[in-house]
Amino acid sequence: MGSSKSWRLAAAVIFGTASLTACADGSEPSTSELDVEVTITSLNAFWEQNEELLGIDFEAVPLNRVSTGADGVTCNNRPLEVEEVEGNALVDGDCTEGILVAYDPAYLNASNARLEATLAHEWGHVLQAQGEEIDLSLSPTGLEIDAELQADCFGGAWAAENATSSLDQLRNDVESAGDPHSVPVDDADAHGTGSERVAAHEIGVEFGPTGCIDQIIDVLPG
Ligand SMILES: [Zn+2]
Repeated sequence: MGSSKSWRLAAAVIFGTASLTACADGSEPSTSELDVEVTITSLNAFWEQNEELLGIDFEAVPLNRVSTGADGVTCNNRPLEVEEVEGNALVDGDCTEGILVAYDPAYLNASNARLEATLAHEWGHVLQAQGEEIDLSLSPTGLEIDAELQADCFGGAWAAENATSSLDQLRNDVESAGDPHSVPVDDADAHGTGSERVAAHEIGVEFGPTGCIDQIIDVLPG
């Protein structure tokens, strides 16, 4: 059973949109579009190799279930709209067509580190959607922020040996996406402050996938 949540990254100003699959005119995809596909391929491969560590069945997300909202990709027969991913990215595990990952290309293309940190975080939500037993936010005392920080941790676990950005660049991007300190820890949209997010990311870098089940507890607020 999928949970009814979708997860969002902190909002950012956007300037326009482009489509991952906007190559119908025969033109070559732009570099950034290729980077998205390269990163997705790497994330899928990494979690296929590591699903046993987590004790879940990971299913690679096919490219046709990764959307910008401008490509007609549907969830429960309804096409996603560009506005729904403006300035962020999300995962929806409740689509009958299969899991959906969506992102705003303008947000992603701010930098290579942004692209990698964002997609790696979203793949953390894919793991949670496909293996709800590992989703810390679904524990009796769990909060939404727990799932967000766990996703940062899973992102770090992938990044440690797979990202093309440096770990410093990734840390800076993760930190920049932190919440203001005024956001309550039990806010349904809370993702964690910059320092909380970096701490979670670092657990993944240092301890790998299983650290995001065990050691992550140590850095969760509340
Ligand atoms: Zn998230």
